[in-house]
Parts: sequence; C-alpha cells; structure tokens
Amino acid sequence: LVTRMRPFTSTIFAEMTALAVRTGAVNLGQGFPDTDGPAGMLAVAKDSIDGGLNQYPPGPGMPVLREAIAEHRARYGTNYDPDTEVLVTVGATEAIAASLLALVEPGDEVVLIEPYYDSYAACVALAGGTRRSVGLVEEPGTGRLGLDVEALRAAIGPKTRVILVNTPHNPTGTVLNRDELAEIARLCVEHDLVAITDEVYEHLVFDDVEHVPLASLPGMAARTIAISSAGKSFNCTGWKIGWVCAPAGLVGAVRAAKQFLTFVGGAPFQPAVAHALRNELEWVEGLRTSLQNKRSRLAEGLAEAGFAVRPSEGTYFITADVRPLGFTDGLQLCHELPERIGVAAVPVQVFTDHPEQWQHLVRFAFCKKDEVLDEAIRRLHKLN
Ligand code: PMP
Ligand code: GLN
Repeated sequence: LVTRMRPFTSTIFAEMTALAVRTGAVNLGQGFPDTDGPAGMLAVAKDSIDGGLNQYPPGPGMPVLREAIAEHRARYGTNYDPDTEVLVTVGATEAIAASLLALVEPGDEVVLIEPYYDSYAACVALAGGTRRSVGLVEEPGTGRLGLDVEALRAAIGPKTRVILVNTPHNPTGTVLNRDELAEIARLCVEHDLVAITDEVYEHLVFDDVEHVPLASLPGMAARTIAISSAGKSFNCTGWKIGWVCAPAGLVGAVRAAKQFLTFVGGAPFQPAVAHALRNELEWVEGLRTSLQNKRSRLAEGLAEAGFAVRPSEGTYFITADVRPLGFTDGLQLCHELPERIGVAAVPVQVFTDHPEQWQHLVRFAFCKKDEVLDEAIRRLHKLN
C-alpha cells in the first residue's frame, strides 16, 4: 500500500475492540456508552422513519436542526445564523475532515495538541498538510495534563495555517481553562491562524469545571470553526450527527468539501437531535452527573489496583500511569491485558508523535454501567 494513507491503515479502537471481543474482555478501550439516549429523542427518530423522512435531507442539514444548533450555541454567548453559519455533518469526524480538507493546502502546517484524537493526523495527511504536535505537560503537584504555552508558541511558524484544539480533551480528560484558551486565542490572532475546535464532550465536564468554547473569546468568533456532535451528549454515537458553526465564509468552504465526501446524511436522526438539543438538556445533566460518579469510581478502583491515576476533568476517559505496577510500555500492556486479565484499554502513545514520552500512560473509558466498571476493577486487581 504505497499511498499517503500507509501509516493509517487501522485504528487502535477497531484493533482493541476486536481483541476484546475475541478474548471476552471487559472493553474499556473504545469509548461508547452501554445505555441508550433520552426516550423522547429515540421516539422522534422512530416517528421520522415512519413518517417517511428517509430520503436525502438538504445539503446544509434540515432547517429545524440548524436552528436548534444555533440556539444551543447561543448559550455560550456565540451567535450563528442558522442559514449561513451552521452546517450539519456526518458526525464530528466528517466535520473535522471537511474543515481540514477545505483549509489546508499542501505544505501548510497544522498544530495539534498531543496526545490527539486519531483522525486528526490522518486528515491532515489527506489534505497534504504537515502536522506539528505540541505535548500537554504534567502540572507539578496535581498531575493534570495542561497546555505548554511556550511549546505552542515555538511550534507556530510562517507555514502554520490552522490549530486544532480539542477540549474537553480525549484521551486525557483535561478541560482547557480560560487562561489556557486565552493564550491560544492570543497566538491565533497574532499569527492569523484559523482555529478548529473539537467540542464533542462539551457537556461532559465534572466537578466545578466549565467548558469554554474558544470562539467565545475576544477576536476568536471570526476565525474559529466550532465542531460538535450529538453522539456523546445524547448517548447516540452510532447516529453520526455532527455540526460546524463558523462565519459564513468558513462554513461555505467546509460545505464545499463536505458535499463531495458524503453529500448529506442521517435524515431521520436530524429532527431527533433537534428535539434533543431543545428538550433534553436536563437529561444530559443527569448523564453528566452519572459520568462524574463513574469517573470517580474508576479512578478509585485504578488507584487501589496500583495505577497512578491522572486527574480527569471531563469526557469518557481517564488516564493512568502503569509504572507503579512495574510496567514500562503501555502499548505492550494493552496488547497483553485482554488475554491476561480480561480487560481492554487503549495506550496513549498511539495518539502521539512522541511515543517514548507517553508510553507510561494508558486510557480507560468509564462510560459503562457500574457493574461493568466494578468487574473491570476486580480483574485489574489481579495485576498486583
Ligand atoms: N473527536 C473526539 C475527540 C472524539 O472522541 C470523537 C469520538 N469519539 C470524535 C471526534 C468523533 O465524533 P463523531 O462520532 O461525532 O464523529
Ligand atoms: N471516540 C471514541 C474513542 O476515543 C471511539 C471512536 C472510534 O472508534 N473511532 O474511544
């Protein structure tokens, strides 16, 4: 296979899920919930199918959904015109791909915060761009993986066109705070960069942590493509309804790429997600609380089993240092774990360009029923 996709032939999620299925392991690898979303949302999807909403929806997305997305983003103080500044996509995945394909010319550089979600590097490669990855750094005392502002500044050069920012952050669970985002915003303005923000975990933040969209900071609305999706907020990762909010010029460019990737998608799910954005945010608050408890449950279990757990402020994920248990390589451990003790997890190093710096960390997903988490914890104790 001699193509630019050669380094991207399989994903760690597919690999680890297949291994988990083959060995009957508890799968805390791939992040997907094991319960359904709000009943009202599911009912609208079923009614939509029964009502004949089964043909191509409009290219930019159904008006009812674009309006609901614009209303939802207004909660952050950012206003978008549903007709020209909102685009419905096939999940956040397509939104990210179409944004990069639309903006990045061969030779342009894209700054990624490392570790980064796996599709980012692949899509930068598809666009013919070059990635510059900037590692999060462990904060002394808390172990939180925070932004390294100096490293970010150093990564930006004359060819940098885009910075892709994911907060709440997969795989670490870090939620970038206002100070960190203000530094990113300053650099974007100073170097005239476009920011693409991946906010799919926008509602899944814990304790007193707040999700702040980069676009809500001064000077940023005009240069930010804000991306989110329904999958994580409403437990429907298989529906693949995502969206882009940005100024009309940027949305037009993304739409031009998107129309030749999938054209449109998910007709019967679009009104259901519109319903959910307007009526199910209380349900989402329940989900948030429940995930917060699951985060704490797994964090305690991992610590008791001997891992050094890093703080998780949001998302589905928590990372743990495997060195206190005598292991050095998370990749090797993740390949052995399903067979050895019947648990699947994901090594953090596969989300980086510097595996040697990240090989001690493993990611566990806690978006699972309590009994599933408890069984995984029971099995993880066998590592001691
Ligand atoms: N970005 C991040 C950080 C994710 O974790 C995921 C999915 N797990 C996605 C994007 C993809 O979202 P979607 O399923 O809506 O395509
Ligand atoms: N986003 C999910 C995760 O990080 C899985 C997505 C996928 O399987 N591509 O685990």
